[in-house]
This record gives sequence, structure tokens and C-alpha cells, in this order.
Amino acid sequence: RIVYLNGAFLPFEEAKVPVMDRGFLFADGIYEVSAVLDGRLVDNAAHLARLDRSLGEIGIRNPHSLDEWERLETELVARNGLAEGLVYMQVTRGVYERDFGFPPADTAPTVVMFTQAKTVAANPLAERGAKVITVEDIRWKRRDIKSVALLAQVLAKQAAVAAGVSEAWMVEDGAVTEGSSSTAFIVTQDRRLVTRPLSTALLPGITRAAVLRLAAEADLVVEERLFSVEEARAAQEAFYTSASSFVMPVVEIDGAAVGDGRPGPLGRRLRALYIEMARAG
Ligand code: PLP
Repeated sequence: RIVYLNGAFLPFEEAKVPVMDRGFLFADGIYEVSAVLDGRLVDNAAHLARLDRSLGEIGIRNPHSLDEWERLETELVARNGLAEGLVYMQVTRGVYERDFGFPPADTAPTVVMFTQAKTVAANPLAERGAKVITVEDIRWKRRDIKSVALLAQVLAKQAAVAAGVSEAWMVEDGAVTEGSSSTAFIVTQDRRLVTRPLSTALLPGITRAAVLRLAAEADLVVEERLFSVEEARAAQEAFYTSASSFVMPVVEIDGAAVGDGRPGPLGRRLRALYIEMARAG
């Protein structure tokens, strides 16, 4: 397995980051994840645009142009012979003596990339449907930044693991914000596709944007608004989206069945449309 670290492609065992890296000490960095299908990156330009924005929001200069990023990712995918899975990218504020304030402006950011093989299209969970639990959203107020500070999401996902389900939907003031690593959607009885509007309160999901563009093809009217846990439980269908799960039908929320307890036709249709789009490049 080959990983990319600061300009070099190295065997996994040889890629090491110093103890004084600010990513390690302060979670002072951001990340991005793109899917790979048929050996090709999915919707990668949008992921790189979000990476650039995340860096800008925390004052780290982007070490690469978008073209350079894509070339590096493509080379990493090729070197690993990856047909299907994920590319993970992380940039931190670099290595410097520990101090809360930023290091000198010429400190080089640390850039790490690795791949993970994973079945993303023919995922059996999408056939069965995922179960979710709800947990309180205890995160900070800039959730639009794809920060590597993920402790709240780690705890949320572990609560899901402990409950034997696939994802945790985080809830604030009675409304679902998003999943621990996904965007939450419901479909109402009158064919409305409902998801929370973008703000600093949630991550602007790249898969979310793609699914909203595909909604009309599934005869759905998009409604960007908050929805409550009660509304989600009573919805016709529910699903979540992410680069690694595409469109994942939700069949149970906190132990109660959604619809008839099986993946619904509209979620399935959106999943098929998304995979078609991803394969078409
Ligand atoms: N929301 C959160 C909190 C996430 O961590 C993720 C992905 O990791 C998403 C939403 C989905 O974003 P995307 O579709 O860009 O993968």
C-alpha cells in the first residue's frame, strides 16, 4: 500500500508524521474524501473546491492547485491499483514547537493522502437498508469546515456501533442536523425531498448537492428546510448521503420502522441515478 506524504509516494510503513504536527496536537487541519468507482474519481472537482474553501476558512494556504491535487490523487489511485473505494486527503498547519497561535507563515503544511479499498456501488447494506439512531449534536459552531477535529462524530458513530446500527443522526433543538459522517434526507408522502438548508450548522455535502440536482429526474420537489426526528420517523422514506455511502436508504430510526421498513423506491431510484452519474464521469 502506497501513501502520499509531503511530495513523496511511500510504502505505508515509511510514511511518518512528527509528534509536533499541529494536526496531531490540536486537530489543526482539514480533510476531504472522494470516492473512486471503476478506477476513476467521483465528483472530484467539487471535493477539491470544498477542500480549498475549508483551508481558506482556517487560514492555511492551499499547497497545491486543483489540477495538481487531481494529478496526485490519480497517481495514488494508479499506484495502489484501486478500482473502487476512497481517496482520503488531509492538510494540517504543519510542524512547529507547540503553541496555540499560528506558526510562522512559511511553515509548510503537512499533506497526507491514502486510499481505502471499499465496495461503494454494490454495497449490500443499500439492499437491506440502514438503521440509524439519534444522538444530541454536541459539535462546535463551524460545521461547514471539514475539520479533522471529529471527536463528537467519533462518539456519535460509536453510539451507533454500540446500538448495532449503521449511522447516528445528530439532533439540535429537535431538528436533525446531519449524520455523523453523512447528510440526512427524508421524502414526504407528497414527493417532497427534504433536507436541511446549508449554513455554518452543517457540512455542505458534495453528494447532497448531486442528489438535489438529480431530484427532478425522480419526480421529486426539493424542499430545503429543517425537519424533526418525529417527522423523519413518519416520513415515506429516509436516506443519508456521503462520498463513501452514495445514497443509503434508512429503514429504521431509533428502533421504529420508516415506511414499510424496507428501502423505498425513491431512495433506490436516486441511488441508481447517482451511480449512473458517477460512472458517466
Ligand atoms: N456531513 C458530515 C458531518 C460528514 O462528515 C460528511 C462526510 O464525511 C457528510 C455530511 C457528507 O459529505 P459528502 O457527501 O461530501 O461526503
